[in-house]
Amino acid sequence: MKALKDPMGAAINDYFRNGRAAKLRVFSSQFDEDEIPVADLFRDYEQMPYLEKMALGLAHGRILDVGAGSGCHSVVLQGMGKEVTAIDISPLSVAVMKERGVDARQTDLFDESFTGRYDTILMLMNGSGIIGTTENMPRFFSRMKQLLAPDGYILMDSSDLKYLYEDEDGSFDIDLAGDYYGQLDYRMQYKNIKGDTFDWLYIDFQTLSYYAEQNGFKAELVEQGDHYDYLAKLSLS
Ligand code: SAH
Repeated sequence: MKALKDPMGAAINDYFRNGRAAKLRVFSSQFDEDEIPVADLFRDYEQMPYLEKMALGLAHGRILDVGAGSGCHSVVLQGMGKEVTAIDISPLSVAVMKERGVDARQTDLFDESFTGRYDTILMLMNGSGIIGTTENMPRFFSRMKQLLAPDGYILMDSSDLKYLYEDEDGSFDIDLAGDYYGQLDYRMQYKNIKGDTFDWLYIDFQTLSYYAEQNGFKAELVEQGDHYDYLAKLSLS
């Protein structure tokens, strides 16, 4: 990815250097314009949601923080004395993480030239997002097989977006013939830096379990959050 097309990295970089940032805007063809509070990307342990705290507690051995952003989880894990490597496609985010003392590499999760064996693979803040589409599930799980150590596992959080489609009478207005309802397209903008459109997958636990099973993995529900969100543990079955 070119820095010119790295809106989130630019926001993270500004916030890291100046303690504040402009608006990080998110566009989607499915929803109204939204905004990611950049300060949230620098949350410390106390500010993290309960499911993330749980994931950090369960992370052990050699840990890979995938799509690590500002490195908020990696920094906390290091503070706990744990061994962590962070990866992100965003060049500016990786630069910031390095300055924060994180062992960070700029790579796409799906780029097979990045190798290693990890006991824990962390994917947090709707970590399933990086999978992009349900169609990409086989590729995701085969990549996980390359990166997991024996007995290793993935800790991933996501949300069931069905609540966005709920009618007043409590029924769900979902087009069953269309793409899976958690599959969104996003585009981000920071100042005049516009990123490319990308796919971002939210997935309910049952559907995640189905794809895990199809691909030789088992999914366990570690904990449910208070708003359709959950933390899952995925391991080879
Ligand atoms: N985990 C962090 C950041 C979440 S935002 C946190 O909880 O705060 C998602 C991050 O994933 C972004 O930094 C983005 O650059 C990164 N990302 C998206 N697709 C990726 C891919 N294919 N490989 C590696 N990183 C990716």
